[in-house]
Amino acid sequence: MKAQDVCIEDGEPPDGRPASMCLETVHVDAQTGHTGKTGRMRVPRLTTVSGFLTNSATLRFRRTFYKDVSAIDWNDWRWQLRHRITTLEELERMFRLSDDERAALSEQGSALPFAVTPYYASLLDPDDPSDPLRRSVIPTMAERIKTRGEDEDPLGEEKHLKVPGLVHRYPDRVLFLLTDTCSTYCRYCTRSRRVGNPQDRSLSTERWTKALEYIESNPSVRDVLLSGGDPLTLPDDTLEWLLTRLRRIPHVEVVRIGTKTPAVLPQRITPALCKMLGKFHPLWISIHCTHPAEHTEEMKRACERLANAGIPLQSQTVLLSGINDTVDTMGRLVHGLVKMRVRPYYIFQCDPIIGSGHFRTPVEKGLEIIKGLRGYTSGFAVPTYVIDCPGGGGKVPLMPDYVMGRDGDDMVLKNYEGNLYRYFDGDADPIH
Ligand code: SF4
Repeated sequence: MKAQDVCIEDGEPPDGRPASMCLETVHVDAQTGHTGKTGRMRVPRLTTVSGFLTNSATLRFRRTFYKDVSAIDWNDWRWQLRHRITTLEELERMFRLSDDERAALSEQGSALPFAVTPYYASLLDPDDPSDPLRRSVIPTMAERIKTRGEDEDPLGEEKHLKVPGLVHRYPDRVLFLLTDTCSTYCRYCTRSRRVGNPQDRSLSTERWTKALEYIESNPSVRDVLLSGGDPLTLPDDTLEWLLTRLRRIPHVEVVRIGTKTPAVLPQRITPALCKMLGKFHPLWISIHCTHPAEHTEEMKRACERLANAGIPLQSQTVLLSGINDTVDTMGRLVHGLVKMRVRPYYIFQCDPIIGSGHFRTPVEKGLEIIKGLRGYTSGFAVPTYVIDCPGGGGKVPLMPDYVMGRDGDDMVLKNYEGNLYRYFDGDADPIH
């Protein structure tokens, strides 16, 4: 494993502690985590606790394209949101775009808008349109092509809406769509029909109140998944208000938040946010992760803060052709997650939203990945591969064939190396 350069920048964090600017380059051994200083620049004081960790690629990007932006601003999630890159002109300044990307960005017609945080843009390859992270957020003309089986609402969520923004599909849990906003839009988003909608329905108190009333009046609901859009684009006090209301409902046992924020806007995971979230246990967070290239020092710190607040973390990943559809890439992804205390949870077959044909892999590819992980890495690092059934049938787990069949009282099993074994599965009659 290669060592990587990380910069620790000390300044006033967005939550308002005192500023004292200093900047130091620190060499971090990726295997041991040991640090050694390689280049001292201006160091009145070095504080890794309150300081900002910036990976070297991001720092280079910031110094090139955001010369006048301070570390304080760059590391302020509200600054990142205000300065999202949303136009062809801005992108052209930073990236060598392909004709296809340029055409997709200049023509209207995609349901899903384009936006990427400056931080996430810093992780994209400026020259290579086939770069995995770049493909996942920069539009191409392929998303204008509708292929067989595609639908704008493939999971039938709209027909399971009980009140606006609340999907009740499974008996004991609901999906609460808090907002239509994300900091960065994934080109394969299942909810591309609604996210980024200019008439953002998120902050309608009336909408939220109706959803809360529905949950209150349905005692079977013990698990509430907050999603969107990305709930962590909302301010702390708004989230706190909602979580307080949810926690007052006696039958709500668990609250979950689905978010991509630690990967695309890790600056959002402030100590203040974690402290607030920590008041609402049991609270779980599912992190949408795409590729190991997202595993920067910033994301690691974000996950560390959440985990230290006692929040169990799990991941979900959409299987994407040419982006993460190899055993090697998924292996690196799950190993990186485990190191960040994130339990790999789901690999989703890419939902058939309109214009997603170029992202979808054959199901065989997903099975091949699970086969390449199971037995070759820790069991808890192997996610479950699922297809979310079109029309609202729910998730169906898919596994390679490990059960070969029965032979009398024996079950014949195939292990990860392809060897056959017999397991006696008959009655427990005494043999003496
Ligand atoms: S973060 Fe989630 S909701 Fe937002 S665009 Fe990506 S997949 Fe869609």
